[in-house]
Amino acid sequence: MNTTKSDKLFAEAQKHLPGGVNSPVRAFKSVGRAPLYIKKAKGAKMTDVDGNKFIDYIGSWGPMILGHAHKKVVKAVKHAANHGTSFGANNEQEIRLAAMIKKFVPSIEVVRMVNSGTEATMSAMRLARAFTGKNKIIKFEGCYHGHGDAFLIKAGSGVATLGLPDSPGVTKSTARDTLTAVFNDIESVYKLVEKNKNEVAAVFIEPVAGNMGLVESHKDFLSALRELCTVENIVLIFDEVMTGFRLARGGAQELYGIKPDLTTFGKIIGGGLPVGAYGGRRELMEMIAPAGSVYQAGTLSGNPLAMTAGFETLKIIDDDKDFYKNLETNCEYLYKGLREATERLSQNLTFNRCGSMFTLFFTTKKVTDFASAKKSDTKLFARYFNSMLERGVYLPPSQFEACFVSSAHAKKDFDKTISAHASALKDIF
Ligand SMILES: *Cc1c(COP(=O)(O)O)cnc(C)c1O
Repeated sequence: MNTTKSDKLFAEAQKHLPGGVNSPVRAFKSVGRAPLYIKKAKGAKMTDVDGNKFIDYIGSWGPMILGHAHKKVVKAVKHAANHGTSFGANNEQEIRLAAMIKKFVPSIEVVRMVNSGTEATMSAMRLARAFTGKNKIIKFEGCYHGHGDAFLIKAGSGVATLGLPDSPGVTKSTARDTLTAVFNDIESVYKLVEKNKNEVAAVFIEPVAGNMGLVESHKDFLSALRELCTVENIVLIFDEVMTGFRLARGGAQELYGIKPDLTTFGKIIGGGLPVGAYGGRRELMEMIAPAGSVYQAGTLSGNPLAMTAGFETLKIIDDDKDFYKNLETNCEYLYKGLREATERLSQNLTFNRCGSMFTLFFTTKKVTDFASAKKSDTKLFARYFNSMLERGVYLPPSQFEACFVSSAHAKKDFDKTISAHASALKDIF
């Protein structure tokens, strides 16, 4: 694969941007190669500046559930741009997107738009603290909730990928207020709540974790968590930035039939533009200014282009009654092919999947939490990643990230992926 132009751009980028990138995992550090520069993307494919074409399983880390540059979304965004890109005043699109979010996710009574998932979780945390009058939060090892100070304790995603310790720059007093429990282990939560009686304001969880690789939570674990939060007056916050509008119409909370108090969103609701949102019970949300006194604002919040892209994306899904069913049927074909190819080569690797998200862990042991995810052979993963890339399949450059399938992926993309996978495994084993 010729990467001359990408290599040149990356050399130049390193003079101007920290590590040459604007988000750490993009640097490809953990897979030992220089990153690629993408020139364009359409449907399930991305093309880099050297003209290499890839089947994309990142989907911008989740947002592109319809594939890249969907005709209707692009048309709507162009139309919106012609009417002005930002007003610093109200627009109609933000109401439409809010109503659409509520239509998909019944636990949402009121929702506030922000610009990223990070902003959504930070704001939800402030609200939970204000509502309960308590300070501490509980999160789970390997879960990622954006880069807010309070969440950079045993965080997943890029922090896990790069093997970084908890980030410098986070003060001790902030770190003290973040308690970490073990994913899928309710006893670990009981212990923390007991030890910090009447001090825990919120529990944050990715109900299906995507940021330590894909790890589902057990239903009885989530139910027990719900019960505990209700009894202890703790705000249960589902971080569905990744899983919202991805795993089902109503996200992971619909799959599990469990209602959180607050939910954070991002990714898909922006249709590829920068958006986040948080919402939930009216009683909590009406504490947000100007309805209430919890301050949270944003110059570009509810941006008309972003609202339009998000609304169009959700509308396309809403208009197709079988959207998730069809997406899952398509994914089944891919998963079956990947599993069979793996077994044919007598490799017993752990394959975690949920809806249109999956991770192949390079370990033979079950992966149910961060500790078991970390048993994966990341060097082997790096070789697999590189081999797949050379064969035209663009996976997330980390063992601790999920792959995303879009409705634009076709059977022939899957066939190509399955055969690349078989060859890649032959290369590395
Ligand atoms: C991506 C992600 C975030 C952070 O969202 P940004 O838009 O990158 O700030 C938070 N939580 C989860 C679960 C995510 O997957």
